[in-house]
Amino acid sequence: MIINKATCLVNFHIFTLFPNIFTNTLNEGVTGRAISKGLINLIVHNIRDYSTSKHKKVDDYPFGGGPGMLMKPEPVFQAVETVKKQYSVPDGTPIILMTPQGKTFTHKIALSFQSFKTIFIICGRYEGVDERIRNYLATDEISIGDFVVSGGELPALNIIDAIARLIPGVIGRSESAQNDSFYNDLLQFPQYTRPANFRGIKVPEILLSGNHEKIKTWREIQSLKKTSQNRPDLIIKKNITRSNPLET
Ligand code: SAH
Repeated sequence: MIINKATCLVNFHIFTLFPNIFTNTLNEGVTGRAISKGLINLIVHNIRDYSTSKHKKVDDYPFGGGPGMLMKPEPVFQAVETVKKQYSVPDGTPIILMTPQGKTFTHKIALSFQSFKTIFIICGRYEGVDERIRNYLATDEISIGDFVVSGGELPALNIIDAIARLIPGVIGRSESAQNDSFYNDLLQFPQYTRPANFRGIKVPEILLSGNHEKIKTWREIQSLKKTSQNRPDLIIKKNITRSNPLET
């Protein structure tokens, strides 16, 4: 299923048993605009189409027993290998397996994928996938956090959106990614919009002052304050990175 055929900066090939989850979600808002501008391209492949068994079987019982079913290796390998050939995808293209056992996704990891023209993403379901998919097909294993959801589709949507936001032109200047949380290992400063007085709760005076220099300083301080309150780990990481002479 091809959502947009235009030449684009990043092609996401998604391998899933539930293609509609992608079509219905990414076509909205920022990612929807990126798709229509041809900045990202989403090509969703139904893993079931690559099953060669009579009833298009994609799952089976785990060897050694245990509850639930696992995704079989054959249809997933077949799907990825066929698409690689069909689209002449170069070796070295990331093949990301969505799994709670992977590296936790961060802004830095999003940046590391930014340079690829093509990214493959495999979404698991059921009790997960046969270990050979992890060991012999995937190049990266990514988790969206220390919790388990029912499928890799929602985690994949998160990472596609995060990677897409970093592509030049996907978000407008007014929504610059440089102001976003984590860009500089800090959380974003507090933001307010109209009305200036809501139920007696007033917007900080400085933001109404028109003094851009002072506003900038206030925001930097607030950003540090918020980060040390909500995410002290980020401040510690920032200090360690700064004081390490081996890091530039
Ligand atoms: N039994 C597995 C979890 C299976 S959940 C385990 O304990 O590791 C089914 C699928 O949902 C997984 O194969 C994976 O693709 C996806 N998934 C669940 N939680 C996830 C998370 N935190 N991050 C990324 N993918 C996740």
